[in-house]
Amino acid sequence: MREPFSIRCRSCQHQTPYTQPYTVCPQCGQSWLDAVYDLSLVAHQWPAALAQYGASLWRYRDLLPIHNPANIVSLGEGWTPLIQAHNLGLLLGHDHIYIKDERQGPTASFKDRQAAIAVSVMKEAGITEAVVASTGNVAIAYAAFCARAGIKLWTFVTSSVPAEKMREVALYGAEVIKVAGTYDQCKQVATEFAQSKGIFLDKGVRAISAKEAMKTLAFEVAEQLGSIMAGSDYTLPNPGRFAWKAPDWYLQSVSGGLGPVGVIKGFRELKAMGLIDRVPKLAIFQVAGCAPMVNAFQNSSPVPFDVENPTTDITTLATGKPGEAYQVLREMIQEHGGTMATVTDAEAFRALHVLAKMDGLSVEPATGVTFAGLFNLIHQGIIGRDEVVVVNCSGHTFPVEKHIVGEQHTRDMVLAEDAAAPGREEGLLTALEELDPRVQRIAIIEDNPDATRLMRRILQAQGDFHIEEATNGLDGLNLIRRTRPNLVILDLMMPGLDGFAVVEAMKADAALQDIPIIVITAKTLTPTEKRWLDSQVDGLWEKGSFMDVDLLSHIRGKII
Ligand SMILES: *Cc1c(COP(=O)(O)O)cnc(C)c1O
Ligand SMILES: [Zn+2]
Repeated sequence: MREPFSIRCRSCQHQTPYTQPYTVCPQCGQSWLDAVYDLSLVAHQWPAALAQYGASLWRYRDLLPIHNPANIVSLGEGWTPLIQAHNLGLLLGHDHIYIKDERQGPTASFKDRQAAIAVSVMKEAGITEAVVASTGNVAIAYAAFCARAGIKLWTFVTSSVPAEKMREVALYGAEVIKVAGTYDQCKQVATEFAQSKGIFLDKGVRAISAKEAMKTLAFEVAEQLGSIMAGSDYTLPNPGRFAWKAPDWYLQSVSGGLGPVGVIKGFRELKAMGLIDRVPKLAIFQVAGCAPMVNAFQNSSPVPFDVENPTTDITTLATGKPGEAYQVLREMIQEHGGTMATVTDAEAFRALHVLAKMDGLSVEPATGVTFAGLFNLIHQGIIGRDEVVVVNCSGHTFPVEKHIVGEQHTRDMVLAEDAAAPGREEGLLTALEELDPRVQRIAIIEDNPDATRLMRRILQAQGDFHIEEATNGLDGLNLIRRTRPNLVILDLMMPGLDGFAVVEAMKADAALQDIPIIVITAKTLTPTEKRWLDSQVDGLWEKGSFMDVDLLSHIRGKII
């Protein structure tokens, strides 16, 4: 049983019952429309209702713009995992980073939510043909859901969208119109096409369905975080078993700004219903080559600084003229806190690779932008060490993998032609040995297993180190004496013989004194300790304050 809701126009505040998918305000003709619900009524019904609904975004149907559930077009969207980034957290010295894994939606981005709801709304309205402009992922998601709903779809994309993405759209049977121009021009062409043909045009962030779709991200995060904070299983729905919880931050890279507009609307509704105690701060990121929102925000401008010709390889984020969405987002940040910042394409690609190597998630460059932004905000102290952070994460790494791992990502193994020929055994053995020469041996002496895992991971991802470990100073010293490693990575605070004593013992032993030592410590050093270590060891790193590549290049330079 759902309650009626109404729509409100952002320009004239006119409110009217929702009876059809309006694309403009019936009073003033403007097109930014929001759905408004009787939240006190829903708050009353929800605990019982949610206990019955399954684990998909449709469990929030009482706050979604569908009248009859029979019109729902579904591919299993929503209720994506909320995964803690353990290794990345260790690298950054931050324990509360959660990844909302939207890669696990039907077409691998959070646009699946938008497509599911927009296409269901179209179906309910009897629409059989539609037009959408996209920087890539919307076209893919809409194409899949339209196929299922029997709706003919025209997608307009810029020619810089990766060919792999266009092919996926075509695979689902949608028309792909490749526009040689900017994304803003592409939107204009799509609008004119829809008008001239009289076909329904999807209005993106201005449309009700899009924002309502994105708010389900907020609902899921709050429900899942509630379970996680109570030490329970986040994969199970949590209607009222544990208190729902808002994170301190929601992070996303933006193009048109739809995601965060909808997500913050969702958190506001939860707060109005008394389910959470605050709305999170919002951090949104753009690439330096297309940052109309960030540039305006940093100059306290009420309107975006439009970018005529975006210069970025990350096409997903190439909206140069975001319009009203900027104002809405700026107001949200002014009310709830947060920030807007840029990152470079290079930082984004590096962050993408770090996340894949450290925590096993392959994401697309637009998500790399969000992670690069996260690294920066943590290093700048804008995101505090105790604050809970949720990062929106989408897939589609495929089109860019070749640029990231390069051509040298396989090791070739040649087998003898004739398997029965004598000598094959030795030949195979030699080939196997060549696969893993393990020339450089490194000893890690560290009592914290998490820190050891992190070091091992950083070195392993590089491929050619042989690593041995000890968990205290005495065992460590024995290990060094026995194996004579090419490098020692040493913690300072350990039970029994501490790191300082290990350094002293090594320097006093003629056989060990030339082995380079890199100290990685969480200890706050006194000036005397620091001076002494600087004179004895080859590198001094503070835990949580370095990136893997920095450490690796340092190690490569020191190793003997
Ligand atoms: C669409 C998209 C964005 C930008 O989202 P908006 O909220 O529309 O600005 C960022 N990352 C990915 C992966 C996307 O698909
Ligand atoms: Zn109006």
